[in-house]
Amino acid sequence: LYYYINNQFIPADQAAVSVKDLALQRGYGVFDFFKTINGEAQFLDEHLNRFFNSAQHLRLPVAYSKEALKAIIAELMQQNNMADSGIRITLTGGASESGYAIATPNLIITQQAMQFNHQLAGKGFRLITYQHQRQLPFAKTTDYIMGIWLQPLIQQQHADEILYHQNGWITETPRANFFIVTKDQKIITTKNNILQGITRNRIINIAQNEFEVEERDIHLNELPDAAESFITSTTKQLMPVSQIDEIMIGKGTTGEISKWLFNQLVFHVKI
Ligand code: PMP
Repeated sequence: LYYYINNQFIPADQAAVSVKDLALQRGYGVFDFFKTINGEAQFLDEHLNRFFNSAQHLRLPVAYSKEALKAIIAELMQQNNMADSGIRITLTGGASESGYAIATPNLIITQQAMQFNHQLAGKGFRLITYQHQRQLPFAKTTDYIMGIWLQPLIQQQHADEILYHQNGWITETPRANFFIVTKDQKIITTKNNILQGITRNRIINIAQNEFEVEERDIHLNELPDAAESFITSTTKQLMPVSQIDEIMIGKGTTGEISKWLFNQLVFHVKI
């Protein structure tokens, strides 16, 4: 298995950056993550565009053009020869002498074998709400402190994931975007103070052909009236949500619109 760090393809077990790196010392870095299916990178342009945006947002220079990154990714995929995988591009704050000033960013590209569901999950996720706003939400930063810190709470409550909100206004989960479907078949997704998920954009584009789609703030008090709910991400694709705190969503079973959107997303077909 090979990784790529700063102009070098290197065996995974030898890949390293300085312990002085600002990502390690202060949590300062960005990344993006996309999947490969049958050896083909999925939505690579969208992920690279977001990667450059995240880097710019954190004032981290990227010493590579988009085309150069594509060539590196293609070569890494050839060397590792994995059909289905996740590829992560990380850009760190670099080895900082002062421990605070941004230095020369390290670019790290890693690949891991991964399988993605071809079937919609039979049982929806149970979410528990938690008041929190991600820092610099438009950037895909390496900071998942709150999401990881809340893992014991998820286990205690026999839930699957957290749903962040601010004063009752829902944003996203720690690693996915949030949607509801209303009883009159409107598809609504949160708009502000979130990471613009690539899967979210795909779902919006797919849904727009058949349904009314709204991007706007969603309040927790709208949940009892929702017919369906789901979250979206590169890894989870589309995951139905059956319960949020004590509120059962719809009939508590996976809704027809969620099923249709999943099939469109994963197979590009109408079922
Ligand atoms: N929000 C956050 C905070 C995330 O980390 C992710 C996962 N990248 C998402 C949303 C979903 O984005 P995507 O569909 O691009 O994976």
